[in-house]
Amino acid sequence: MNVAVPSPANREAIEAKLRQQVAACTLILNDEGLMGYSGHVSARLPGEDAYLIQPIDTSRAGLKPDDLLVCDYDGRVLRGNGKSKPPAEVFLHGEILRARPDVNSVAHFHHDLTNVFTLVEGVDLRPIKNHAIRWRSGIPVHEDPSHVSDSGLGRAVAETLGSHHALQIRAHGQVIVAESVEAVLIDSVHFVENAVAMYHAAALGKVRALSEADMDAFAVAFKRQRHIDKLWEYYVGRGRTKGFIADAWDVG
Ligand SMILES: [Zn+2]
Repeated sequence: MNVAVPSPANREAIEAKLRQQVAACTLILNDEGLMGYSGHVSARLPGEDAYLIQPIDTSRAGLKPDDLLVCDYDGRVLRGNGKSKPPAEVFLHGEILRARPDVNSVAHFHHDLTNVFTLVEGVDLRPIKNHAIRWRSGIPVHEDPSHVSDSGLGRAVAETLGSHHALQIRAHGQVIVAESVEAVLIDSVHFVENAVAMYHAAALGKVRALSEADMDAFAVAFKRQRHIDKLWEYYVGRGRTKGFIADAWDVG
């Protein structure tokens, strides 16, 4: 599925860095109040139909790079740490990564206030803050609130996602997809920021969503990769200062 297949030595170095990035991303999402006691981040391994994901029972507040498992698209553990099992919702990650070669990282979490928009009729979550133009194609709502605990349920979520960059699972949580671990962190933060802003705006009055013209105007000068790099550095730096990201981790 990946076009470029790295050499074995490069593959090892890439996996080592991705392990540190996934652990850092998870710890930051936890520190930001997005992840909590459940949820997970995955990262595709270049040159393999496989990805990194955390074990089912490892705390999101204490995840280490070496804890991560390598799983295939069917949720089977290819490489792991002893008896560790993947999360029950590993299929959500596997089926999205199988269906979307453009996606290299998936974040799934259960942010209650963001999910409120799936609990009321006639109030759809829309882009209202500038960085939410990422979701201008739409934010689908997956109607089945089930735990995504088998391949069929995972395929159904991937179908609802289609070519979009995020979805909400009704009465359950969020799924954010992006081209890299750094990008999935920044998108997750902005997705929740936008939802929180809309929640507050709706309490004050009629919500003004971004128009197509607004989004076109913002997009003119917006440099996605530069923005991702800036915020990644900010959040990693804060994690190091707070002491939950080790100085030795090479997170790029
Ligand atoms: Zn879930």
